[in-house]
Amino acid sequence: MERTYIKDLGGKIEGEVVIKGYINVRRDQGKLVFFDFRDMTGVVQGVVLPGSAAKDVAVKVRPEWVVEVKGKVNKRPEKNIQKEKQNGNIELEVLGMKVISEAHELPFELGTEVNLDTHLDYLPYTLRSDRSRDIFKVQSTILHAYRNALRKHNFTEFEAPALVGGDAEGGAAVFKVEYFNDKKAFLATSPQLYKQIMVGAFERAFTVAKIFRAEKSATTRHLSEATCIDFEMGFIENETEVMKVLETVIKETVNEVAKTHSEVFGKFGTEVPLMPEAFPVFTLAEAQALIEKEYSRKIEDTNDMSPEDERQICEYAKKNLGSDFVFITRFPTKKRAFYTYEDASEAPFSRGFDLLFKGLEINSGAQRIHDYNELVERMKSRGLNPEKFSFYLQAFKYGMPPHGGCSTGIERFTARMLEIPNVKEATSFPRDMGRIDSRMSTEEE
Ligand code: ATP
Ligand code: MG
Repeated sequence: MERTYIKDLGGKIEGEVVIKGYINVRRDQGKLVFFDFRDMTGVVQGVVLPGSAAKDVAVKVRPEWVVEVKGKVNKRPEKNIQKEKQNGNIELEVLGMKVISEAHELPFELGTEVNLDTHLDYLPYTLRSDRSRDIFKVQSTILHAYRNALRKHNFTEFEAPALVGGDAEGGAAVFKVEYFNDKKAFLATSPQLYKQIMVGAFERAFTVAKIFRAEKSATTRHLSEATCIDFEMGFIENETEVMKVLETVIKETVNEVAKTHSEVFGKFGTEVPLMPEAFPVFTLAEAQALIEKEYSRKIEDTNDMSPEDERQICEYAKKNLGSDFVFITRFPTKKRAFYTYEDASEAPFSRGFDLLFKGLEINSGAQRIHDYNELVERMKSRGLNPEKFSFYLQAFKYGMPPHGGCSTGIERFTARMLEIPNVKEATSFPRDMGRIDSRMSTEEE
C-alpha cells in the first residue's frame, strides 16, 4: 500500500492506510498501548487494541524506533477531540506494525530541557526535537524568503569562495590554512571583496556565504563559522538606498515567516516582530544621547555601540516607536572597514550603518569607496599594501559605479526572531572555540 503522510490522515476517515515514521511517544494504559507517531508532516495518535495483530511488535518498540504502521483512521468520540492539536479529531487504530530500524537506549527523552552543551553534544538526536525543528524550519524559510526578495529586486546570486588569499576585513582574526606549495591561504572572514567585484558584472549581486572568524570570544552572539546573506548594489546616491532595500527585504522575510509559521511565535513565548511603516534611524550620537537620558547612565565609548547600548536603544524603540528593528548610522570612519565611504562633508563619519533587531546587531552595511585612487589612498592610510590587493583593485581600475551593500547573519536573525538567548541554538552545527565535531572524524583528538 502507498505511504500516507500523517498530515493527510484527516482526509481518510474510515480508510485503511500505511504510514512510515518514528515512535514519538509511547503510553501504556492497561491492555491498550497508545503511540504518537511522527513523520516529516506531523504527529498522530495511534492505539493498539488487545486483539490487534500488531500486539507483539507493539510491546517492544520504543521512542525513536522507525516503523511502518498499517492502520484504520477512526474519528474520535466527541469527548476525546483535541481541537487545537494536529489530528486531534482522529486516531489511528493500529492493525499491523513493522520495525524498519531499532534505536539504542536514548540519553534522555526527546524534548527534555537540557543545558546547551548537552543539547549540542547530542545534536544528531536533539535536532529531532520539536523546538529544534521549529527553529530550523524558520531558518529555512528565512533563507528562502530573503533570497526570493532579493531576486525580485533584480539581484543575481553568485558563489563566493571560502578559501581566500587574504583577509577582507583586515582586523577580524582569521583562520590560516595550509595551502599548496607552501602558499598561505585563509578562510574568508567575509565575501565582501568578491561581492564588490560582482557589482562590475551584475550591478546587483548577492551571495549566501560562510564566514569564518577566529576571534577568541565566548559570547552568546559569536560563532567561529557563521552564514551571511550579503548583497551589494551599484548606482546609488548614498547608503540610504541600501538601507531601503534591506528594510524591504527584511519586511518581506518576516512576513513570510509569520505567514508560514504563525504558530511558532507563541511556542517560543514571543510575537511576530513589530515593523512600523519605516524602521527608526538614529545616528550613533543620537542613539547614545537618548540612552544616556532614558537610562540615566554615562556612555564611555562614543565610537561604537556596546552590547548594552544595542539592547537599550532597541528596548526604547520597541516601547516608544513600535519597532523591533533600529538602524544606527554615522559611525566614525576609523571604526569601519577600509573600503567604507566617507563623504568630505560628513567627515569624520562614514556612510556605514548597522541594523539592530531585538537588542542585537544582525546586519552591517555601507556605501563603499568606488574611486580607484581614493581606495588606494585609503589602503595606504590604513597601512595596507595596495599591491597585495591588485586583483580586487582591477574592479575599480576598469570602471566601478558608486555602490553599497550589507550583510545579515542568519543565525543571529533566526535567534532574535524567536528570542533564543544563544545564537548557537539557532545554528544547526555550531563551531566555537571548543566545538568542531571531532567525534565524527578519524583524527586523534
Ligand atoms: P559584532 O561587532 O557584533 O561582533 P561584526 O560587526 O564583527 O559583529 P560584521 O563584520 O559586521 O560583524 O558581519 C556582518 C554580520 O554577520 C553581523 O551583523 C552578524 O549578523 C554576522 N556575524 C559576523 N560575525 C559573526 C560571528 N562571529 N558569529 C555570528 N554572526 C556573525
Ligand atoms: Mg558589524
